Amino acid sequence: MSNPPIRFSPLTTTVPGYPRVATSRVYKSLLERFWSQKTSLEAFEEGVRELRTERLRVQREHGLEWIPSGDFSLYDHVLDTALMLGCVPERFGWSGDAIGPELTFALARGKDGVPPLEMTKWFDTNYHYLVPELPDRFRLTANRPLEDARFAREIVGVEHVKPVLLGPFTFLKLARLEGSELATRLDALVPIYEEVLRELAAEGFGLIQMDEPSLVTDLGEGELEAFRRAYERLAPAASLIVQTYYGDVAPSYDTLCALPVAGLGLDFVRGRDRNLACLQGGFPADKLLVAGVVDGRNVWRTDLEAAKALVQEIASFVPPERLAIGSSCSLLHLPETVASEQALPSALRGALAFAQERLEELRLLAGALRGERPEGWDIAQAALAAWREEASRFDERVQARVAAIREEDTRRMAYAQRRPLQDARLKLPMLPTTTIGSFPQTPELRKARRLREADPAAYEAAIREEIERVIRLQEEIGLDVLVHGEPERNDMVQFFGDQMKGFATTEEGWVQSYGSRCVRPPIIFGDVDRLGPMTVKELRYAQSLTERPVKGMLTGPITILQWSFVREDIPRREVAAQIALAIRDEVRDLEEAGLSMVQIDEAAFREGLPLRREDWPEYAAWAVRSFRIATGGARPETQIHTHMCYSEFGDMIESIAAMDADVISIEDARSEGALFETLREFRYPQQIGPGVYDIHSPNVPSVEFVEERLRGALACLPLDQVWVNPDCGLKTRRYEEVVPALRNMVEGARNLRR
Ligand code: GLN
Ligand code: ZN
Repeated sequence: MSNPPIRFSPLTTTVPGYPRVATSRVYKSLLERFWSQKTSLEAFEEGVRELRTERLRVQREHGLEWIPSGDFSLYDHVLDTALMLGCVPERFGWSGDAIGPELTFALARGKDGVPPLEMTKWFDTNYHYLVPELPDRFRLTANRPLEDARFAREIVGVEHVKPVLLGPFTFLKLARLEGSELATRLDALVPIYEEVLRELAAEGFGLIQMDEPSLVTDLGEGELEAFRRAYERLAPAASLIVQTYYGDVAPSYDTLCALPVAGLGLDFVRGRDRNLACLQGGFPADKLLVAGVVDGRNVWRTDLEAAKALVQEIASFVPPERLAIGSSCSLLHLPETVASEQALPSALRGALAFAQERLEELRLLAGALRGERPEGWDIAQAALAAWREEASRFDERVQARVAAIREEDTRRMAYAQRRPLQDARLKLPMLPTTTIGSFPQTPELRKARRLREADPAAYEAAIREEIERVIRLQEEIGLDVLVHGEPERNDMVQFFGDQMKGFATTEEGWVQSYGSRCVRPPIIFGDVDRLGPMTVKELRYAQSLTERPVKGMLTGPITILQWSFVREDIPRREVAAQIALAIRDEVRDLEEAGLSMVQIDEAAFREGLPLRREDWPEYAAWAVRSFRIATGGARPETQIHTHMCYSEFGDMIESIAAMDADVISIEDARSEGALFETLREFRYPQQIGPGVYDIHSPNVPSVEFVEERLRGALACLPLDQVWVNPDCGLKTRRYEEVVPALRNMVEGARNLRR
């Protein structure tokens, strides 16, 4: 069968995907109203149709020529793909008939005690996907990409539709298959994909985007070969663009070029240098190239002149009639539009581009490349030039401080020497008990926080009352090391961002994290410094209430960096160093206020790891250094804690040890002790609190369960190295669960001490 003719006009503009939630988080409200049964299924589905229509129209109105279909999702596109392929675990009691929203949400969120699919990070982004659980046999449940493409055709016309599918290779990688198992399963998936693609082609959808971002990661033995075989077979079914993003494809470039597919999509933002080097080696004359030249991951306005030069360079290897330009990846990771940000300083606003502005940039670029001088070009470039001159970005004092950091500033007294000083000061029992920082965030607390501006006195009183309540509760439960409970924070990054210069907060800068959950990352636009002490008032008060040690609670530089949009005019490592100095100052102030221990959360330390292993050592070096800048000024008798939200340490244990924290608490409650082995083999020297129960579940652990977990830890680690704590903060739980769980935890620890 021959494929429909390829419609491809020179320098067509496109994006791999577009945001789903829309301004004011329309989709979030739709979903949550449906979940709480405030709307019927019919009304929900009607709302979704309207939203999808609007999403398509926005792209068309901004002049986008080649518009993705199938990128919208009720919850997550990996889940959609799993459902299309019949991957519904038995526990959901699926009868095999058509899959609607109810079953989709059951897999995503669990239902009536049936646990949902596991959720995890999508590549190195803050988007989360649901990990598919594969059945023995795949089967096509519905040709969803075709339905989506038909829907889009009605709105924007067939010539503008680009069906988008998550490719079978990446799908299986995301289901955590490897090596020969991956190859076998891929063979089984190919016929199903073939059918989907044939039907699309038969309806005249000329070019189809197959997302294969796994090609920018390290591939195992035989995996690239399995990929090649699959696409050899798929290529005749339709005209395919193999789309990659988040990095370069250097190791697989030759394989890609030799495939009989219609074209390739490459990322020239993140993967710029290596992908350009690939092109220099030649690009096949029979293929189209979709070049990602404006950034889909960060919010800074594109320098159009520079982007134009980049496209011209690319065009010296690929003639314009075979070249399309687009964003480096789906715009899913950007907020909708800068137009909603009227409260930002105008110079900063002028320097930003969210999803809609990216579409404008593509329109301008395409115009300029076709030889026009499009209206808007000069204004865009002027805004950028003005920002480069903007004085509020710079603080010479901060820059000088960073430049002056010496090696010894990042070094504390040796652990073996400071440990006895801390023990003598703290006088803790063996197996000391503590928590990770936050206590439940009740509706009353959220209400009190909203008073902050309107009625500062009432706000302060409410926060103090809450701190006192939480301290008394912990004393009563019998915890050894107390926390203040973080009642004044709604977000562990935003809270610090709001109190530092160089940070801006948006009003509507929401980005989907998963399902209905959106985050609003702060924007780091300039040199960072504290505006004043950030946590001292609350922590001093907390410590004044009790004889037991209270642990100060800060967020670390890497986590702040990872969960923000970061400036690009200086290296990330330098921004990290600036934040680290601010945290260092805060540690000193907390010591002055009488605190004997401070926890610096690095929840996102591992997330920052580059996608390719060869790039890890460089990251690890500056990430560890930033933690050591933050902590290096602490007195030896001050105990420094850190917390990380994962437990796969095997591959980075050296970095964790190099951070030189006195105590690290980790999220280990769901892993099966593999961690302890790693720690034993490595002879991890410092203290460690393996999470003894899982706070992500409402279940209350029994005393025996806690004892069992601790015995597991003690089989591998010396007694004087082990702490007892839950595996993460308690803020999403309710007191009904938290109080009995902590009581059992404390009792379990006491039993073992005997
Ligand atoms: N201290 C924070 C809390 O307890 C840590 C949160 C996290 O690890 N994500 O909420
Ligand atoms: Zn955590």
